Amino acid sequence: MKLNPVDILPFIGVLGIGFFLIIETRIPQRMWHMSRWKHCFVNLSLSFCNLIIVDTFFVTLLQKSVVFDHLKIINIFELLGLNAFLRIALCIILFDMMMYFWHRLNHKVPLLWRFHRVHHTDMDLDVTSASRFHFGETTMAAVLTYTLMLSLGASLFEVRIFKLIFVLMTEFQHSNIAMSKSLEKYIWLIFVPPAMHRVHHSDIKKQTDSNYGAIFSVWDRMFKTLCRVEDEDKIIFGLKEYRDPKELTVFKLLALPFRKEKK
Ligand SMILES: [Zn+2]
Repeated sequence: MKLNPVDILPFIGVLGIGFFLIIETRIPQRMWHMSRWKHCFVNLSLSFCNLIIVDTFFVTLLQKSVVFDHLKIINIFELLGLNAFLRIALCIILFDMMMYFWHRLNHKVPLLWRFHRVHHTDMDLDVTSASRFHFGETTMAAVLTYTLMLSLGASLFEVRIFKLIFVLMTEFQHSNIAMSKSLEKYIWLIFVPPAMHRVHHSDIKKQTDSNYGAIFSVWDRMFKTLCRVEDEDKIIFGLKEYRDPKELTVFKLLALPFRKEKK
């Protein structure tokens, strides 16, 4: 059986979970409130739903569709005549910028927030939090990703390279790793370190509505959404209106977008 590199890339993302899980267990930034097993179970169950509904069903159906290859909308990459390296570099930059604006929209548009708040109800942050997304949100993100892919004329391999870096960075910034402040300061110059993303998970609205970046920190700096907190240990994760663990089971989280919003 011939192995296609496109199919191997997502497995590296799974290995990333194991890698960060080991580090955060050895050097945790803070202690978990709830049982780690329970926390892990809820987040990975949501991830499993995404794997089945979005990655296996929706994306495979989309990619296997006969019209997929004929849907190149503008094909900017071909018009610019870019080489392989520049195509991948541009892919990473443009898709990350798209994800920045998509994330901002998720906080600003009430309908999108209904889905995205599932991610923000997490009261502990660790590498499994990077998987805590409602399948409604990931389906919409997949549609957006493939629309940009077809507009650029990017290949599936190029998009998967971006996705891999995106997933590994998302795992890194959610991980509960105690890092040296000086190292984090240097990472912050270009990339999004855990300290920057922890502010985004604060239960204070002004802080939640900041630090939207996933790979590069430049977008938050450029579009004035960067927020720094001096003492990050004082940040309380989660949403003030959703603090009862009984309301945050897998099934209740799947139903959350369709339930009346708590104020
Ligand atoms: Zn968010």
